[in-house]
Parts: sequence; C-alpha cells; structure tokens
Amino acid sequence: MTRPESPLRIAISGAGIAGLAAAISLCKLPGVVVDLYEQAEAFCEIGASIGLGPNGLRTLEKLGVHNALREGVCVRQKGRHHQVYRHWKTGAVLAYDTHRAVTDPQHATARFHRAHLHAALLEHVPLSRIHLGKKTSHINVDGTDGIMLHFVDGSSAQADLLIGADGIHSATRKWFVPNHKLHWTGWVAMRSTFDASLLDGVDFPDDAAHWVAPHRSFFHGRLGHGQFTTVGGFTVDPANPPDIYRNVSWNDQGSLQRLRNLYNGWHPTVQTLLEKTPYTRLYPNMAGEPLDTWVYGGGRVVLIGDAAHTHGGAFAAGGSLAIDDAYCLLLTLQNVWPLEGKPSPAQIHHGLRLFEATRLPHVGKVMTLARHQIIGKLAPGGKGDGSAGAEKIGEADEDEKLLAFIQSRPDTAWINEHDVEASFRAVVEAGASRLDRDRLLQSQL
Ligand SMILES: Cc1cc2nc3c(=O)[nH]c(=O)nc-3n(C[C@H](O)[C@H](O)[C@H](O)COP(=O)(O)OP(=O)(O)OC[C@H]3O[C@@H](n4cnc5c(N)ncnc54)[C@H](O)[C@@H]3O)c2cc1C
Repeated sequence: MTRPESPLRIAISGAGIAGLAAAISLCKLPGVVVDLYEQAEAFCEIGASIGLGPNGLRTLEKLGVHNALREGVCVRQKGRHHQVYRHWKTGAVLAYDTHRAVTDPQHATARFHRAHLHAALLEHVPLSRIHLGKKTSHINVDGTDGIMLHFVDGSSAQADLLIGADGIHSATRKWFVPNHKLHWTGWVAMRSTFDASLLDGVDFPDDAAHWVAPHRSFFHGRLGHGQFTTVGGFTVDPANPPDIYRNVSWNDQGSLQRLRNLYNGWHPTVQTLLEKTPYTRLYPNMAGEPLDTWVYGGGRVVLIGDAAHTHGGAFAAGGSLAIDDAYCLLLTLQNVWPLEGKPSPAQIHHGLRLFEATRLPHVGKVMTLARHQIIGKLAPGGKGDGSAGAEKIGEADEDEKLLAFIQSRPDTAWINEHDVEASFRAVVEAGASRLDRDRLLQSQL
C-alpha cells in the first residue's frame, strides 16, 4: 500500500488583511495545510478607517468573501463620486473622483472600520489554524527540511513555504533584507472612529469628503456598522520635528485640543465635526524604498502586503493591494500545481516568480507615484481610506492655486481599478510566447 503524500505546509506570518486573505486564497489549493502565526495575543479593535477600491472588492468577491461587500459592513458613497474634494473654508466642491469601469455598485469604493473588515475575513478562516501570540523572530531555510519559523516565545514551526504577511515592520523582511530601512515621512494622521449617532442633529454632507486647504486637509466619512471617521493631521520636518511631536508613536492618544486648533477658521461643518469627535489617535506615516524582489530563501519565502511594499498607505491602496497580492499568489501557484500530488520546490519557486512578475511592476509604479507625486512633491501621503493629506502644497495659499493643485492630482483609476487577474494572464501569455520563441530559435539552430 502506498502511503498518502504529506500535504504541502504553508506558514503565514501575520494575520492582518494580507495574511487572512492569503489563508483564504491558499486553502483553495488541493493538499495544503495553511497555518497563520500572529504576534497579537488577541484580535482587538485597534485601527480606524480603511478603504477598499474596486480592485480589492472584486477580488474579495472572487474569493467568496461576500460578507465583506455587504452594505452595512462597509459604506459607499450615495452619489456617483467615490471621492469629493471640498474647499476648506467655503465648502464648495472643487473636484470629484469617479470610477471608470465599475458596473456593479458593490464594487464601488467602500469604507470600513479596519476591525470590521478584519472580522469579515476571519469568518472564512478556521480558527484552529490561527496561532496567536506567535511573533516571528527569525527564520531558517534548509534545503531538505524547508523552513523553520522561530517565535519570540521560543517555539518554532516547520513549513514548505512561508508567506511573510507581517506588515510594514515585517520581521520576515528584516530577516532577509536587513538593510531595508523605513523612514517617517513627517506626516502624522490624527484619526478617530466613533458612533455616528454622536452626530445626530448635525447638518453635514452625507458623502465622505476630503476638505483641502493649502497646507492641510481633513477627511470625514461614514463607515460600516454605524461608525463615523474623522481624519486630520499635520506635517513636520521629520528630521527636526517640534518637541511636542518628537516621540509620537503609532496609535498613541492625541490631543483633541491640538487637533481642533489645526482647523481653526475652517468651514463650520469641519469645526462642528471636530467638536463632536470624542478622541483622536496618532498615526505617524512610515514609508520605505521599493524592494528588488519579494522572493527569498531559494524560492521558499515570499513577502506580500505591506511587508512587500512599504508605500506608506498612499492612495488608500494598502488594503486592496494586500488582497490582490493574496489572490495573485493563488493564481500563480495554481498555474504550477501538478495534476497529482504537490508541487516540487522548483515548481513553487517558479510560481513565486510568476507572482513577482505579475505584482512587482504594478506595485513598483504605485510606489514611484507615491514617492514623486505625493510624498515628494505634493503631500506626504495618508493612510487607508482616501484621507491622504493634501499637505504641504508649496506656498500656495490662493484659491486659484488650490484649485490648480486639486485639478492636477494624479488620476489613480489604474490603481484602484487594477485587474490583477488580467495582469497575471498577460504575464503567463508573455512567458508562453517567450517559450515558443525559444523553442523556435532552438529548432532553427
Ligand atoms: C492593528 C492594525 C491597525 C491598522 N489600522 C489601520 C487603519 O486604521 N487604517 C489603515 O488604512 N490601515 C491600518 N492598518 C494598516 C493596514 O491594515 C495595512 O496597510 C493594509 O491592510 C495591508 O495589510 P497587511 O496585512 O499587509 O498589514 P497589516 O494589516 O499591518 O497586518 C500585519 C499583521 O502582522 C502581524 N505581525 C506583525 N509583526 C509580526 C511578527 N513579527 N510575527 C507575527 N505577526 C506579526 C500584525 O500584528 C498584523 O496582524 C492597520 C494595521 C494594523 C496591524
């Protein structure tokens, strides 16, 4: 009697948006065991608003995560425009962003509390496969045994393939690319989420809006489960911040008074929304240089999500990029999966190369635009929900310049309406035609 072949063991470091989406995706492969290792002892409601564009939403639908798309879990604009830009003082609408090729209303940009998106993904992952309190410390790659993943608590786990989905401060990335550095862009978001009933009786535009001034922006919008978000913020010189901003860390309690002071003189709606905002937390924005590769350990390790692309949350793209990465990993591994049994290490390596060939050029373009158009030239970027700040637009303080600035914003439809599946097919076809060409050349020799 032949012994059944052992399953392919896939370990995922980090059970955030990318890690959960990867687990949901990769469980669809035959003969795999997927385990998630998460540093947190429990999942709690840290974070604020996060936006998903049509790309991320379509991908979730393909993965069967319909519960995340439901109105109520998230909120979409009532109007046709997924982003509205208003004048900071007059409230006049300066510009809109409208989707290009979104026919299903469920695919229009949706805003969530991050914890609700996370919970919707969690419903699709067996809890028995999630190991909490497992903070990755280091990794050994062995030619025969595969990967040994070591945790801070002294325990370890073995796997054939490791997915590093451990976020912007990724331990997996640090292990394989120790010289990669993150820097603070100088932008600090001041975020709050609260029950929208706190705004009962307040008159404000129902659709989320981005209010812009020459040196600052403010964002407000409804979120799923009756929540509301306000996002303000400030930019300082990261090399020489004023003392009060010197040691701000992620999720620190911020000063409400300081937040309100930043918006003195703004339109009464903005001031009222800030008056009603019950607390604020600080989110210093971090970013890093693009990586040349996301595949390490001789083809047994791959980075996805913020671990792979430290783009500083620009264009509210982080959540959708992470989800598309996870789905792309499924497509590329399916492509190399043998009809019987599990793939060899060489086949997996080839699958990861296809993944990288599909995602790296696209994400590289996103990062370049983030660096040149947003972080370097216009604004230091923002996080998550379209609240990327219109900070630091030079010395322009006149309305005409403000209008010109808004009208010259980059068109980001190619980011938030990106079709990861079409990209993957193009890469496979290009590879196939290269193979045909090589065969032709061989036959002509
Ligand atoms: C708690 C939290 C709150 C957030 N809040 C917001 C928000 O309000 N708005 C927004 O736009 N973006 C937020 N983000 C970031 C946003 O989720 C990501 O930019 C995006 O969704 C990409 O997801 P990701 O899975 O790559 O990274 P993340 O969502 O950051 O997930 C990374 C996961 O890896 C875990 N992890 C980190 N290091 C290790 C380690 N060494 N070992 C094991 N596990 C590890 C983290 O605890 C986390 O669960 C938040 C991230 C976190 C972790």
